[in-house]
Amino acid sequence: MPKEHWQKLPMCHKEAEKLDIILTCDGAASVGQVGHEVAVKITKERSEEARMCCLSAIAAGSKPHIEIAQKAKRLIAINGCGNKCTSKILQGIGVTPSFEYTMVDMAVEKVPTLDFDSKDVHRIARDILQKMYP
Ligand code: SF4
Repeated sequence: MPKEHWQKLPMCHKEAEKLDIILTCDGAASVGQVGHEVAVKITKERSEEARMCCLSAIAAGSKPHIEIAQKAKRLIAINGCGNKCTSKILQGIGVTPSFEYTMVDMAVEKVPTLDFDSKDVHRIARDILQKMYP
């Protein structure tokens, strides 16, 4: 896609109070990739009010990113598997997400691959969107 057609997102640090912030582990397995794509899909569909932010920056102790998690209107934590890395990182900074989802609990099989079924992405994104914006 040409750069002039790229979708611009709100600045997460400036506008965190007005935004639903989505954090996903982006794990290197089917479940992590489904979680990532779900976060992308929600961001693209609701970019005025929701967007992904950098979980790894929070884990690395980046102050602006920790502040985003603390100030967000609502926080959505997406984990790939039962290790729940996203949730643990948030626990580590003392923040409780408004919504927490784990892909293996939503009928996604953990397979050592970066491939996934896009039907899972659509199904889970739809479920989350309905809960967030009924
Ligand atoms: S929650 Fe599971 S899939 Fe996600 S990063 Fe951690 S171990 Fe990997």
